[in-house]
Amino acid sequence: MRKALLIADGRPNKDPNELDVYATQRLLEMYPVVVSKRFMIRVNALVTFMLNNDEVFGGQAEDYWWRIEFQNRGSPHLHMVVWIKDHTLLDTPERLQRIDHVCSCELTVQDAELHDLVRKVQIHSHSHTCGKKGPNSRCRFGYPRNPCALAHMIDLDSRDFIANGRRVCNLKRTSEERYVNNYSPILLKLSQVNMDVQQ
Ligand SMILES: [Zn+2]
Repeated sequence: MRKALLIADGRPNKDPNELDVYATQRLLEMYPVVVSKRFMIRVNALVTFMLNNDEVFGGQAEDYWWRIEFQNRGSPHLHMVVWIKDHTLLDTPERLQRIDHVCSCELTVQDAELHDLVRKVQIHSHSHTCGKKGPNSRCRFGYPRNPCALAHMIDLDSRDFIANGRRVCNLKRTSEERYVNNYSPILLKLSQVNMDVQQ
């Protein structure tokens, strides 16, 4: 994205890695059409990949819905719901174990590229948007998450449901992983951007 913005700004030879967050934000605000076009290219590539790869969610994606939102600083993000064909309920230990293959909050993984990506883009850090109900309110994204010895389903009427960011499945999580956002290993390596996978 930053490379495209630099080209639009007439600076094709400048290294995008030299741009700090403020310089990047200025470019985002100056070239919204470039931002939107680049974003949609990435979204379409992502959806095409997901629809043709049964490994991503452990089954064939048969339908999807999306909504794109823009943050105040002008960068877009995607909310997406995917329906998996013949998806079974996660109501047995075997089925819950299977979710480890498609959704993870592991901080330390053997794959070096994935290991670096998790630490670079998947660690939640609180910002002013975390406490919209007041400066002393709990992080509305549910961080830090509670450690969990074994993946399990959560009762929708329980306090755990709220504490888990309104996710129906609590992933296995160590105390070191309390700030790791849930991710799909395959999609994280593909997109290299922050994500929050929910079940
Ligand atoms: Zn927070």
